[in-house]
Amino acid sequence: MSFPDMVYYEPAALEYELGKKLKEKYSDVPWIEIENHNNIPELRSESNEAFPKMKRHLVVAVRKTHKYAENHKVSDYLVPYTSSGCPASCLYCYLVCTYNKCAYLRLFVNREQMMDKMLETQRKSDRPLCFEIGSNSDLVLENAITDNLRWTIERFSESKSGYLTFPTKFHMVKDLLNLNHRGKVIFRMSVNPQEIIRKIEIGTSPLEKRIEALNSMCEAGYPAGLLIAPVIMTENWKTLYSELIETLAEKLSYRVKNSAFIEIIFMTYSYVQNAINTEAYPQAAPLFSKELMTGRGRGKYCYRDELRREGEEFLRAELAKKLPNMHILYVV
Ligand code: SF4
Repeated sequence: MSFPDMVYYEPAALEYELGKKLKEKYSDVPWIEIENHNNIPELRSESNEAFPKMKRHLVVAVRKTHKYAENHKVSDYLVPYTSSGCPASCLYCYLVCTYNKCAYLRLFVNREQMMDKMLETQRKSDRPLCFEIGSNSDLVLENAITDNLRWTIERFSESKSGYLTFPTKFHMVKDLLNLNHRGKVIFRMSVNPQEIIRKIEIGTSPLEKRIEALNSMCEAGYPAGLLIAPVIMTENWKTLYSELIETLAEKLSYRVKNSAFIEIIFMTYSYVQNAINTEAYPQAAPLFSKELMTGRGRGKYCYRDELRREGEEFLRAELAKKLPNMHILYVV
């Protein structure tokens, strides 16, 4: 797929260095001026069917909202950072709940402002804080376009204390390996069985490459984590996840197996995602199941309690057998 096929931009974005670079980099595709990246009427009025086509568009804008949300898993705050949305198409992507059809990649060019706010927040705190910068997009994928992650890691590592963290489903970490991160950046790789990656995490890196990337980042001294997420309870889920854990036990390095932590997140799905997927990916395996799922409010569904409990017990037992030294931070 050629990406991007066109760029929508706020004129103010072209006053920033990154805006100028992108204008040059993508000079061979149409650039369409917009007033506000949150409201592009011609895209908002597109049909659900147009979703995959819309994922090829890129939006270049200035981030105006910088409000942090508190978080209590790996980090203290979820930080709106240099991008939102993503050109990949995981069928469960929670960003669709926020952005609906407009979950295409938006790049925000004012990274200095976002970095200054994080550094300032850390300076005012009497304890080290952890900032989650990857909850709105995939920063490793974004970095392949903008080089922002490299800049971010080098810049944040100068802070006296505090941590950054981000999860990814991509393997392109070569440019990050030799950075002077000073142990302040927690790298988290998200994994799933290869069959689920192929059918459901459309456009993301294969399992094997993700494992290699995690091994190299850990070897480069980054504190690291493994996300088994989202756990999707397809018909043969026990076989798939047991094989996944077996593969991880075989291929993860000694260092990962003895230092990284694990997060486990069961899939939630929503009415909006179901409506878009049914029309945009009619051939895809359906993720919603009336028998297995139950409502969780606001059009969201999650696995029924008894099934989820069975899933958690199964995964904990498999992990205890095959990856006994990896600490499970939480299961949700
Ligand atoms: S890689 Fe992440 S952000 Fe991109 S579609 Fe998949 S879940 Fe969404």
